[in-house]
Amino acid sequence: MNAQETTGRVLETVRRAGFALAGVAPVQVSQWAAELGGWLEAGKHGTMAYLDQDEELRTDPGRVLDGCRAFVVVGDVYAPRGEEDSPEAGHGKVARYARGRNYHDVMKRRLHACADALRLAFPGSEFRTCVDTVPIMERELAVLAGLGWQAKNTMVIHPRQGSYFLLGVVATTLELVTTKPEDRVEDACGSCTRCIDACPTQAITPYSVNGSRCVSYLTIEHRDAIAPELHAGLRDWVFGCDICQEVCPHNSAREGSAGASPHGAYAPKLRSLSLLEVLGWDETSRRGAFESSAMKRATLEMMKRNALIVAGNSLSQGPDAGLLARVREIAADGREPDMVRRTAQQVLENTKPQS
Ligand code: SF4
Ligand code: SF4
Repeated sequence: MNAQETTGRVLETVRRAGFALAGVAPVQVSQWAAELGGWLEAGKHGTMAYLDQDEELRTDPGRVLDGCRAFVVVGDVYAPRGEEDSPEAGHGKVARYARGRNYHDVMKRRLHACADALRLAFPGSEFRTCVDTVPIMERELAVLAGLGWQAKNTMVIHPRQGSYFLLGVVATTLELVTTKPEDRVEDACGSCTRCIDACPTQAITPYSVNGSRCVSYLTIEHRDAIAPELHAGLRDWVFGCDICQEVCPHNSAREGSAGASPHGAYAPKLRSLSLLEVLGWDETSRRGAFESSAMKRATLEMMKRNALIVAGNSLSQGPDAGLLARVREIAADGREPDMVRRTAQQVLENTKPQS
């Protein structure tokens, strides 16, 4: 079998496993190393200290596997383009990627199965799967593999599929034909600035997101109190934020360019969360609600902090006696963890709830 045929067989294997997008990236030193260094230097990764580590691997991804000759990059579609979103009153929204089953589990299981099948088909070759578990820059590899362009909001956008897809990578020692530079997807952001204008915390400058201001980071990764001046930016997002993707014209439903449907495992189970419910949770209820969900990354304290801030934003818009009473209770409850009580107090001070 020549390299062309081998590549066809490998791509067919991952497509059969339900990955809507697939391509092959070459092994090369990252061209984004300088940008990454500047971004880290400026502290735009917030408290995500792990991003400071493994710089060699991040900038030279071939180190992930001895004898690595190529990266098979896959995209798993998790949401349709153009979907309307209006949560019930008193609820906080959840980012689309986290509404169904945990993508780590969903992708890992299928990518591991692909790697097993390829080991059988190509004995003597090595395969290593990477789903958010190995510090490599998947987005750069996705661009090199022809899955899309890296856009001003830093997401990878596929011309028909938009950006609602997750990335996975299989590093291999197999000789494969990589996507030619002329077959990669050209940047189609043009003069558009919709994502930059819509970002509620002004976190985007073209082709860069200041993680320390981004609502996704603040609600999912940041483990301490959220600065009061950023509270309003959370709007009604209790876990993650999709605004810079929702406003992107490449994610709108357009006739004649339907992409692949989302993989069934991402069928939404939790689009939003009742704020009152979250504010009444204990650890057991949090675990129950987040079983098999990527949301389990957020601790109970973080979820209550997020819910309080969203409650404050909602109370600024209109009265809700039950919600306001609960925020007041928490602000005065010495048994609540410091961060939660402090957030409730800041919400009452800063958001001028209408009672
Ligand atoms: S996810 Fe939300 S906060 Fe983060 S950059 Fe996009 S619009 Fe801004
Ligand atoms: S909203 Fe416009 S500028 Fe932002 S990613 Fe989409 S096309 Fe690019």
